[in-house]
Amino acid sequence: MGKVRVPLFRTVRGMRDFLPEEAELMKYIENKAREIAQLYRYREVITPVVESYELLAAKAGEEIRSRMYTFRDLGGRMVALRPEFTASLARLVSNKLRNKPKPLRLFCVGSLYRYDEPQRGRFREFWQSNYELVGSDKPEADAEIIMLTNSLMNATGLKNCVFKVGHIGVLREILNEENLKEKVQNEIMQLLDKKQYDDAIKRVKSDGASRKCVIALKQLMKVKESGVFETVKRMERQVRGFERAESAVKNLYEILELVLESQKIDVIVEAGFARGLEYYTGMVFEVYVPQMDTALCGGGRYDRLIELFGGEPTAAVGIAHGLDRITLAMQKQKTWTKAPRENTVIIIPVKEEMKKEALKISQKLRSKNLQVESEVMGRKVAKALGDADKRRISYAVIVGEKELKDGAVILRDLKRRKQQKVKIEKITETIEAANQKT
Ligand code: AMP
Repeated sequence: MGKVRVPLFRTVRGMRDFLPEEAELMKYIENKAREIAQLYRYREVITPVVESYELLAAKAGEEIRSRMYTFRDLGGRMVALRPEFTASLARLVSNKLRNKPKPLRLFCVGSLYRYDEPQRGRFREFWQSNYELVGSDKPEADAEIIMLTNSLMNATGLKNCVFKVGHIGVLREILNEENLKEKVQNEIMQLLDKKQYDDAIKRVKSDGASRKCVIALKQLMKVKESGVFETVKRMERQVRGFERAESAVKNLYEILELVLESQKIDVIVEAGFARGLEYYTGMVFEVYVPQMDTALCGGGRYDRLIELFGGEPTAAVGIAHGLDRITLAMQKQKTWTKAPRENTVIIIPVKEEMKKEALKISQKLRSKNLQVESEVMGRKVAKALGDADKRRISYAVIVGEKELKDGAVILRDLKRRKQQKVKIEKITETIEAANQKT
């Protein structure tokens, strides 16, 4: 009988495996994100990957809504895999955290799912660290979100980051004064997000907006200058006569002043900049590096989402950092150097009979925080040493009968190719002393 061929399974399109080195880099960034959360006092929450479709679809925006992984569970509920975190956090704030004193600073990190077209930096499963500052409508809250994002960029060693900043309030308030329906406004925002400025203007016109409105918007789209405050001042001139849009520009000015006075950040202001998610109401921003044309991070202010989910009217501002793209940017900029492995040890019993003792020693060393592997393939010492050397392990502890009688082992320094007999209780000390010499 012929051998049955077993198919080799692959990952589903758009999904990826993280092999050890890739997983290590991802976890490194995740840890940095967690450190930043602690530094700024954002407390971690863990929310489910599966949420009700209704919740996730409410304000995701057509672009993301149409790309959600949506299905009925076995109980007949319409559910979806989360395409972003903010809806889940707004659900928490409007419900379980409703009575908690404000401000609330919340952090979460995990995987998200969108049926995007896979390409470099765009996957169907991707990771974000997400920070939400809930309960403040003050510009210092917006500034904090920008500043903590900059702290994460610095912590990962990324250079030449550019923060692109805009204000949805400026655009929306002009459309509001024209009484344009929210649905139409959302369509216009989607077009602006895709930089289809002419189509956006056409849509505004087709809904019967005034000439004054069309001119103001057209002028705003053109406002892109190098100087931050000059740009904002130009915006101010373009929106004159639209009272609430004017105060939105003032708000943007205040936020930028706070940010730029407290640290050096490369900011460009774009008046026609909108984001795909529909819930934004105020300042929005994205972060770029010159090596990539897609954004590493995106966020902004959303003052009405919590109310929409049945909570008290609550102002909020947040940011999502795309960990996959940060990984790619770090690789491109070569900011990722693997931590030196000073304390890796392999324990090799010389013979079967030393196995038990070898395991005992490995536990002892792990309790001293050394990273220890045991030889589990039953190989001869020379072969096991050769393999350990190839894998760049730093030390080998060879457990032999003769030395054991004196309560000792052979400690081999694989980098310096030297070995010595060492008492079992002195192994850690000897390794530490050797590490200090380098
Ligand atoms: P958004 O939730 O759309 O505001 O996106 C925030 C950040 O998440 C982006 O700046 C990206 O870094 C990341 N991101 C969004 N969609 C994807 C995707 N399909 N693949 C990888 N990263 C993504």
